Amino acid sequence: MKNNRLGVVLIVSSLLMITLVVWLMLQRQADAHAAQIRAQGLGVTRSLSALPMSTLAPGAGRAGVLNSLFALQDNPDFAYAAVVAPGGAALAEVARAGATVAVSALPTGTPSLFGERTIDGAAGSRSVREFYGPVLEEGVLKGFVRVAYFAPERMLTGRDLPFFGVLALAMFLLVPLAWLLIRRELAPLGAIGAQLGQLIAATQEPEGRGGVIGVPRDARDLAEHLQQFLLSANARINALERDSVKALADGRLLEYGSNKMHAVLHCMPDGVLILDPSGEITFANSKIEPLLGAAIDAVLSSNIDQWCRDAPLRTLLARYRSDSMEAGRQAGVEFSPVAVPHKRLVATAQPLVGADGAIAFGTLVVLRDATREHLAQQAGNDFVAHVSHELKSPLNVIVMYAEMLQDAAPDDLAMRVEAINVIQDEVERMAALVNNLLNVSKLETGSMSPERHRIKLDDLLRDAFNHALPRAESRNMTLDLQVPRELAAVSIDKDLFRIALNNLMTNAIKYNRDGGTVSLIAEEGDNDIVVTVRDSGIGIPHEDQAHIFEKFYRARDGEAQSRGGHGLGLYLACQIVELHHGRITLDSEPGRGSAFSIHLKKMAPLTAGINSL
Ligand code: ADP
Repeated sequence: MKNNRLGVVLIVSSLLMITLVVWLMLQRQADAHAAQIRAQGLGVTRSLSALPMSTLAPGAGRAGVLNSLFALQDNPDFAYAAVVAPGGAALAEVARAGATVAVSALPTGTPSLFGERTIDGAAGSRSVREFYGPVLEEGVLKGFVRVAYFAPERMLTGRDLPFFGVLALAMFLLVPLAWLLIRRELAPLGAIGAQLGQLIAATQEPEGRGGVIGVPRDARDLAEHLQQFLLSANARINALERDSVKALADGRLLEYGSNKMHAVLHCMPDGVLILDPSGEITFANSKIEPLLGAAIDAVLSSNIDQWCRDAPLRTLLARYRSDSMEAGRQAGVEFSPVAVPHKRLVATAQPLVGADGAIAFGTLVVLRDATREHLAQQAGNDFVAHVSHELKSPLNVIVMYAEMLQDAAPDDLAMRVEAINVIQDEVERMAALVNNLLNVSKLETGSMSPERHRIKLDDLLRDAFNHALPRAESRNMTLDLQVPRELAAVSIDKDLFRIALNNLMTNAIKYNRDGGTVSLIAEEGDNDIVVTVRDSGIGIPHEDQAHIFEKFYRARDGEAQSRGGHGLGLYLACQIVELHHGRITLDSEPGRGSAFSIHLKKMAPLTAGINSL
């Protein structure tokens, strides 16, 4: 229907077009005709007005120049020519049949005026275009020449009909041609429109607004389709943009969460491995490297057997493959890594189970450095064995000498004296050990509170020196005392400090070589007093020095171990010095000897207050 309407519109507009073209051509023709008449009229008027009056109007009975003009003029537009007196009275005239010389006064004014005017025809006759000019003789106005032509009319003549007919026909034939072309051009648009319709239907369907969208019938339909499509596409793009922004925000949130989780896992003091449900390692934190001696890259990219040389750990990880029966249970192993043998690690595997109890998220394996605990435990075990031994040996000696005393002859005085001395020595050794143990226990329960007094250190140092002398001499050692006579006073608990000092002196002799030297040195600085016990003994290995003041810690080199001991002497000495707000330092070179220094704050001299008064 719409196509037909377009056809009618095309026909009507083509008719209008034809009419307009014809009108314009007629108009153009009339204008050209008027111009031609004007040129002719002006020319004739000028020619006639140049002639003398006698030639123009020679008098009655004589053929004037006007008649000759009329006879010569073969112009159907010629209406009339007349010569009039200045007053307007006709002197001579000639007119075409059907035309009369208009009785109309000429415009007055300057006599040399040439002019033209249109004079409407009376009823039934045509209007004319009149041209006039003055006839002058020696400057005197003798009359006027008037020449008139029929005014051109816009009329379709028989001559014009073929031309306009051919023109109209050509234009009329062009209309269906244009119509066909338009239809042909519109056909692909129709197809595009149909596809647009399908697209619109497809994009609207998810929102439940889908409807049947037909094939477009004309360009307006197509434009509507296109607009509809653009709207729905725009809405879809907006929705997608919203989704994308939301997805981006969600992604960032997830990334943040994951980064946070990784940062937490990396900062943990323990080593962490995360296994996926199939048992593959998907995460390893940075502590794995120092604990296991394996690079993180290797742990993450290669097979467990390739990077892990520790059989207990391999067995533990193998348990957490998804096909293993034990995969869902927690388990742990303790081992010393092959790559870092001095360490002791505890690996605990905890399945990350889902609601149904199956391994849903893999397994978390935590590797804890239990070296210290292990050493402490080992030292504790050694200690119990050692203390038992230390108590048992003197007891055996005591029992042995007691029996000898019993069996000895009453007059064997030398033997009795020796037995009593030995028994006394052994009791002292036992008492020393028990005392150390008691002191440690007191320290740890917090019941050891120092009773500090103002003490002159030199006496105390000399006592400790004398106490150690017999033992040193028994091993041919040189004991050296370098203590100034007048030392500043310090505030200490004499008995506790003596324990610390004796422990250092005992060690200096015990871990020394026969014939070596032990020096007890005191130096006074501006603010403190430094007491140093230096020996020329076996020294302490560098790796043990950092732990040497720990409870039960003993250097692990064979020579130190062979000397016997229980790892309490230095611990006690350090604790006692710290109770006095002092500090103890070690300077030792393996094989060359050690120096333990106690730093104590000096007390102000008693006279200082008096002097300041
Ligand atoms: P013990 O001597 O009973 O083992 P200590 O606490 O007194 O316990 O000493 C701890 C460890 O420190 C000793 O086992 C020894 O290895 C080391 N040590 C202490 N003093 C010295 C020293 N003067 N020279 C070398 N090693 C020492």
